[in-house]
Amino acid sequence: MEAWYKICQDFPKDSTPMKIAVVGGGAGGVELTLAIQAGLQQLGSRKLEMHLFHSGRELMSNSSTSLRKLLKKILQQRGVELHLGKLSQIEKVFPEQGYKKITNCPDLFQHVFWVTQASAAPWIQKTGLAVDAEGFILIDETLQSISHPHVFATGDIATMVNHPRPKAGVFAVRQGKPLFRNLRQAVWGKPLKPYIPQQNYLSLIGTGDGNAISTISYAYASRGKLTLPPHKLLWYWKDYIDRQFMRQFERL
Ligand SMILES: Cc1cc2nc3c(=O)[nH]c(=O)nc-3n(C[C@H](O)[C@H](O)[C@H](O)COP(=O)(O)OP(=O)(O)OC[C@H]3O[C@@H](n4cnc5c(N)ncnc54)[C@H](O)[C@@H]3O)c2cc1C
Repeated sequence: MEAWYKICQDFPKDSTPMKIAVVGGGAGGVELTLAIQAGLQQLGSRKLEMHLFHSGRELMSNSSTSLRKLLKKILQQRGVELHLGKLSQIEKVFPEQGYKKITNCPDLFQHVFWVTQASAAPWIQKTGLAVDAEGFILIDETLQSISHPHVFATGDIATMVNHPRPKAGVFAVRQGKPLFRNLRQAVWGKPLKPYIPQQNYLSLIGTGDGNAISTISYAYASRGKLTLPPHKLLWYWKDYIDRQFMRQFERL
C-alpha cells in the first residue's frame, strides 16, 4: 500500500509516460490492471501505459468463454497492451533509472505488480503430509489429511481429494463451520461428518470505472453458466458483500 500511495503521489509530477506492468492474468491481475488505470487517470493527464502479462493464451483461463471475451474486449478498448502465452520474469533491474525489464518485452517499466496465483508454503513438503502436485495438503470430506487423520486442514492450504475447488475465499470461509464441528466431534471421540463444497459460485469482477461484471460459474467444470455485462448495480452489490464481510471483524 505504501508503494501504491507513492505511485499516486508521483503520477501527476512528471510529464514522461508512466509504464506499469501487471504479471498474472487471473481475476486479480485483470481487476488490478483496470483499477490502477482508472485510479491513476483520475490523478492527472500524464500518459499512462498499462501492460498485462499472462502465461496462458487466454486471460482468466478458469472462467467461462463469455466472461473471458468480455474482459479481453474491455482491456483492449482501454488500450491495455496484452502479452499472452509467455511465462514472464523480471530480466533486469536498473536501480538508478528506476526501471525494470521483463523478459520478451522491449519496453521498460517503472512499476511491476506481481499477481500470480496462490502457491503452497514450502515447509508443507517437509512434514510428510500427503500433498497434491502443487504441494497443497490433500484432505478428505471430513477435512482431515488423507495421510495423517489427526491433522485437519482447510482453506487455501488444502485440496479436497474428491472435490477440488479454486483457491478462493468463497470456499475457504465455508469450510469454517464444518471444521469446527468436526474438531469438536474428534475431541468427543464421536464420528466425523463429511462436508461437500458447493459447485456454483458467484464472481464479481470490478472494471475500475465504478462498474462490475457478474458471472455464476460451476466450480467443478469451471464453466460459466451466466455472465452479466458491466453494470453499476453489480459494483454496488460487490462493494456491499465485501463491506458486510469485513464488518464481521469489527463486530466480534
Ligand atoms: C487480492 C486478492 C483478492 C481476492 N479476492 C477474492 C474474492 O473476491 N473472492 C474470493 O472468494 N476470494 C478472493 N481471494 C482469495 C481469498 O483471499 C483466499 O482464498 C482466502 O483468504 C483463503 O483463506 P485462508 O484462511 O485459507 O488463507 P488466508 O486468508 O491467506 O489466511 C492465512 C493466514 O495464516 C497466516 N499464516 C501463514 N502462515 C502461517 C504460519 N506458519 N503460522 C501462523 N500463521 C500463518 C497468514 O498470515 C494469514 O493471515 C483474493 C485473494 C487476493 C490475494
